[in-house]
Amino acid sequence: MTDWDAVVVGSGPNGLVAANLLTDAGWSVLVLEAQDTPGGAVRSDRDVHPDFVHDTMSSFYPLAAASPVVRGLGLEAHGLAWSHAPAVLGHFDPASQRWATLHRDRELTAAGLEDLHPGDGEAWLELCRTWDVVGDSLVGALLSPFPPVRNGISAALAVRRAGGLDLVRTLLTPASSLARERFGSEAARLLIAGNASHADIPLDAPGSGLMAVLLAMLGQTVGWPVPQGGAGRLAEALVRRLQSRGGTLRCSAEVVGVEVDRGRARGVRLADGERIRARAVLADVAAPRLYGGLVRPEDLPARTLRRMQDFQLDPSTIKVDWALSGPVPWAVAPPQAPGTVHVADSVAELTETYAQIDAGAVPDKPFLLLGQMTTTDPHRSPPGTESVWAYTHMPQDVRRDAGEDGITGRWDHDDLERLADRMQARVERLAPGFGDRVTARRILGPRELEARNANLIGGALGGGTAQLHQQLVFRPVPGLGRAETPVRGLFLASASAHPGGGVHGAAGSNAARAALLARRLRRV
Ligand SMILES: Cc1cc2nc3c(=O)[nH]c(=O)nc-3n(C[C@H](O)[C@H](O)[C@H](O)COP(=O)(O)OP(=O)(O)OC[C@H]3O[C@@H](n4cnc5c(N)ncnc54)[C@H](O)[C@@H]3O)c2cc1C
Repeated sequence: MTDWDAVVVGSGPNGLVAANLLTDAGWSVLVLEAQDTPGGAVRSDRDVHPDFVHDTMSSFYPLAAASPVVRGLGLEAHGLAWSHAPAVLGHFDPASQRWATLHRDRELTAAGLEDLHPGDGEAWLELCRTWDVVGDSLVGALLSPFPPVRNGISAALAVRRAGGLDLVRTLLTPASSLARERFGSEAARLLIAGNASHADIPLDAPGSGLMAVLLAMLGQTVGWPVPQGGAGRLAEALVRRLQSRGGTLRCSAEVVGVEVDRGRARGVRLADGERIRARAVLADVAAPRLYGGLVRPEDLPARTLRRMQDFQLDPSTIKVDWALSGPVPWAVAPPQAPGTVHVADSVAELTETYAQIDAGAVPDKPFLLLGQMTTTDPHRSPPGTESVWAYTHMPQDVRRDAGEDGITGRWDHDDLERLADRMQARVERLAPGFGDRVTARRILGPRELEARNANLIGGALGGGTAQLHQQLVFRPVPGLGRAETPVRGLFLASASAHPGGGVHGAAGSNAARAALLARRLRRV
């Protein structure tokens, strides 16, 4: 039987990035994917309506566009083309009946904010100027292995140049306070604070401000692009590049076990019993699955098993896809059409919504992240129509419904329909006539998401909470803050490893670098 240099379990963006980097280093690499198509949470389909492309899960890729690793792969040569919406992000404030809009052109963003409240434009430009000094180093430090030695030093120097302790304080300030301190209009505050809600860090907790600033500033510098033709095109480009360099991908190949002998990974076992030998195994697998079944408990130290009991998932997700016969009929049209729209009436409401989730309640006013995909990329549906989605976060364990529909948290057909109606009503309020334009609707609850990607445990989209207590050296658990695992030759390459969720390929790159180093040190 041939030994592969590496087997990569899972073909999400992290797995495919890892496989590409190892192939570049001359390794023989086999990627094993449980589903019948590659890409993990980076996929698109025509299941909602045959004329419409819908991204099954993720859609907008500012982190990929900013990621030195993804950029370094030169995916444009393998068929990837990016598309941008006229505006990056919009948030409508019902109280003032005004939109705050983020543009790739910072002056345009600032002019719009200044128009909402004198001084907000300058406040925005000041944030941009600070980001000019620290942004690249900070992104580099976030996306490299922890502790980030080279990027860390450069980030520390940049932070000093950009204001030292004042800047550190700004980045540690919770998003809700940051928004209040810096901006006068509620719309501008919402524009910044809504970004923190992409992760599950409460708006009033440290770390949420950094997330809010990071996503807003990436919108400013690289935009929030989408792959032309659908999210799946990004995965296809990664696969095409891998195969062009001799890497191999096998779909419909679920790994059910990592074979360990005397503390060292020797390969994997597939669901049909086939055994595949490899010198290194890179797992693009959620940590609770890797340490909760794929590796036998007897092959793991007791402390790892104990610490994994405290591993915290991020909230659940419910996603609704719509095929619309026309554009979203916004009652007040945004000045320029945004690709992403955040729906929340106020920063206070947003804070309350996340407190409800934390308390196990289905929010009565769920926060929506909404994507206008045909607006962003005309290839998604016929001219004049719109491919739209919205998703919202839910508690992993529902105790009650804060609304009036008696949603139980079983997430059966009834629960999903009721929640989708609640979400749709939120859109309808801002865009009367939205429902009349719906020609097809699909609802993906936790079970439907997990059936399409086993990493999305209970609908958790980030591979584990993004809150500070489970980041950096604490990810996935204290003591395992790097790609190396307690099993020699086994590396954690998924979003459960630092730096967490999002399509940036950093966890895959960190795992590939760790495997290459282990080979140099003759440890694999
Ligand atoms: C609804 C939703 C919306 C999102 N929106 C965005 C967004 O707009 N922008 C963004 O940057 N991020 C977004 N994300 C997050 C982002 O998609 C993920 O963080 C990212 O895909 C993680 O990549 P990964 O490679 O670690 O794992 P995944 O993409 O989850 O891929 C894991 C792969 O491993 C396979 N696998 C798992 N177990 C096995 C096994 N035992 N054997 C074989 N194969 C296995 C799975 O089938 C899957 O293909 C979103 C996620 C979701 C779910």
